[in-house]
Amino acid sequence: MERDGRRCVVCGTAAGESYPGDPTNKARLTIGHRVPQERLRSRGAADDIDNWRTECARCNEPVRDAIPDPIQYDEVLAQVKRMSRDNKRTLLSWLERGERTRSELDRVYDLARILGQTEKEHLVAYLQTSSAPSR
Ligand SMILES: [Zn+2]
Repeated sequence: MERDGRRCVVCGTAAGESYPGDPTNKARLTIGHRVPQERLRSRGAADDIDNWRTECARCNEPVRDAIPDPIQYDEVLAQVKRMSRDNKRTLLSWLERGERTRSELDRVYDLARILGQTEKEHLVAYLQTSSAPSR
């Protein structure tokens, strides 16, 4: 979980965070497997830390419904069509990998949000100064 930034590698949600569109459901992190254990066993391969990954309980559940819901698909497609080319490319890579890669910004945010209160205030003050528009 430390290696994965204490976030679900599939959806990017951290422990205790709520899911988009589902504010009452708080994420609980679990250990998932990149390659299912059954498939490893049939190959005689070991299930070790390289095969483990942080997944929230929701993403670690077996796929409940393999039949796509056409209404949901249309909603997703409409949003995808409004995205920039860069965002489409990023989304494509996440879907192809089955994992959400985290940007430098995401990784620094993960570190910053667990700083002590005083350090966090210093960082906010620094950002307020250094991110102001230049004239
Ligand atoms: Zn997840």
